[in-house]
Amino acid sequence: NVETMDEIKDVHSHGARGIGLFRTEYFFITRSSLPSEEIQYRFYRDVVEKVAPDSVIFRTLDVGGDKMAEWMSGIDEANPFMGWRGIRFSLSRKDIFRSQLRALYRASAHGKVKIMFPMISVMEEVLESKRICEEVKEDLLRERYIIDEDIEVGIMIETPSAVALASRLGREVDFFSIGSNDLVQYALAVDRGNSRISYLYDPLHPSIIKLIRDTVRAARKRGIWVGLCGEMAVSEGALGVLPLIGIGLDEISAPSYLIPEIKKIIRSVTFDETHALIRNILRKSTAGEVRELLIKFINEKRPELREFIPKTSIKFD
Ligand code: PEP
Ligand code: MG
Repeated sequence: NVETMDEIKDVHSHGARGIGLFRTEYFFITRSSLPSEEIQYRFYRDVVEKVAPDSVIFRTLDVGGDKMAEWMSGIDEANPFMGWRGIRFSLSRKDIFRSQLRALYRASAHGKVKIMFPMISVMEEVLESKRICEEVKEDLLRERYIIDEDIEVGIMIETPSAVALASRLGREVDFFSIGSNDLVQYALAVDRGNSRISYLYDPLHPSIIKLIRDTVRAARKRGIWVGLCGEMAVSEGALGVLPLIGIGLDEISAPSYLIPEIKKIIRSVTFDETHALIRNILRKSTAGEVRELLIKFINEKRPELREFIPKTSIKFD
């Protein structure tokens, strides 16, 4: 997961195979005015060239919620996390959306680009976003730009509605990327920035594991790949990674300094044993029980993973 150009040098040195989440909004919110297509193009091109031959998944602008830019002043919402954010913002500011997509498609001439849309909650958002991608491609080809015409286009799965619709959404896209940070927030109805209720914010809650399992099943049904780019794989150490392996996720994206640790955890277990664990997890009713089960597995079968159990456990216990 990358937000700035500075972080790119660590991608290869930490053993990552490309960038699974490039949060483009930081390029937008760290400046006082909107960046032009040309400025964005040069920035994306530099990113892509540095990461080549591996790919970069650029997430289109995910402003709103807790990420406001100076040039967005005047937006006053009672519930910003449920408001004008992510793809909703882009689809109502098509000028900004188009210039970002044009810059991304132009950058695709210099390396391997993939694009994904944040905060999808309904089918119409996917269809409209894809329609705009097609228009942008046609315009660029007409203007004689060289672009990759087969860029993979995916969506983030971070609302419960997207999970419920996943098998239909999966017909329209090339991949899913699960945004567990927001998925936990929306599924458990707990503001991810509110410390008073943070005890409820738990990626190991059985409801979250089930939503991720359902997303992977839908992806399998449609023959597309599915990754996870939320913090679940890193905030919980081995406790977060083991269920993700067992569910059958294809990719994990995380801050690069944690990649060696995640690889070590993945290489210590087999798919079959973690898959069996999932069946037991899904019978549990609380996150505490899920944690206990995972810790028992580690103690009994993989004691070498003990060092990857987070020291502090929040929650109800
Ligand atoms: C997520 O929601 O899991 C995610 C990766 O997006 P962000 O944290 O940038 O909202
Ligand atoms: Mg998110």
